Amino acid sequence: SLNGKTAVITGSNSGIGLGIARAMAAEGADVVLNSFTDRDEDHQLAKDMAEEFGTTVRYIQADMSKADQCRALIEKAGACDILVNNAGIQHVAPLDQFPVDKWDAIIAINMNSAFHTTAAALPMMRKAGWGRVINVASAHGLRASPYKSAYVTAKHGVVGMTKVVGLETAKEPITCNAICPGYVLTPLVEGQIPDTAKEYGISEDEAVEKVILAKQPSKEFVTVEQLGGIALFLCSDAAAQITGTTISADGGWSAQ
Ligand code: NAD
Repeated sequence: SLNGKTAVITGSNSGIGLGIARAMAAEGADVVLNSFTDRDEDHQLAKDMAEEFGTTVRYIQADMSKADQCRALIEKAGACDILVNNAGIQHVAPLDQFPVDKWDAIIAINMNSAFHTTAAALPMMRKAGWGRVINVASAHGLRASPYKSAYVTAKHGVVGMTKVVGLETAKEPITCNAICPGYVLTPLVEGQIPDTAKEYGISEDEAVEKVILAKQPSKEFVTVEQLGGIALFLCSDAAAQITGTTISADGGWSAQ
């Protein structure tokens, strides 16, 4: 069980982050939910989860595109035994037409935020004598697709950072790993179906079948519950010597 442990999950009011947060809370961890918004429904989500799982669940607003807010999230959490760097966005466009502001935002949110939160969390993990850093990278941390230059760059960067943190903490009871999911049907993927259809000049149904799941030999979406299970495994004693590496959950994508 994760009783007495605090898990901070960035970008966790939706999708994979929320799925991992729910898995951690179900195992008894105290959970810190996060996004850049500060809506009633964000705080209500934390209340509802606390009631459902009987653990402490807080929502802390922080914008993961800002270095100081990344670090402030960890400071405000007060404890961080498990850090899940999950916040991420996507934009699909050819490189020579890729909007500069989208490039900067993707690099900041999908990659730089993991540097800042990890830098802030490692001293807390060292003090506590245990820690897990789990980076939600992507199959795009290991493989490329056209029109996703910023995303593929950021996710490859996160996989690189994962190896470095694994080495820097190798002699300590701390591990750092990246989960590399294939396609999961979350708002992030739903949002890129129209763009993909446009780039390829096909219908949205064809975009799902022929472009998105084309890469995924299982022809099935990965689920957030499966990713929650993998995150819990990485927190288990069985995974104590797994560090500085990646775990793919991609229906065979990266076997190709
Ligand atoms: P999602 O859009 O449902 O979730 C993204 C989360 O990040 C949301 O909670 C959102 O509020 C938060 N977020 C966005 N900008 C933020 C900011 N500036 N500051 C703080 N939080 C911010 O998408 P998802 O699919 O659940 O994506 C979660 C992670 O999983 C991302 O890193 C994504 O790259 C990765 N991923 C997704 C898939 C997939 O197929 N959905 C596959 C591989 C990896």
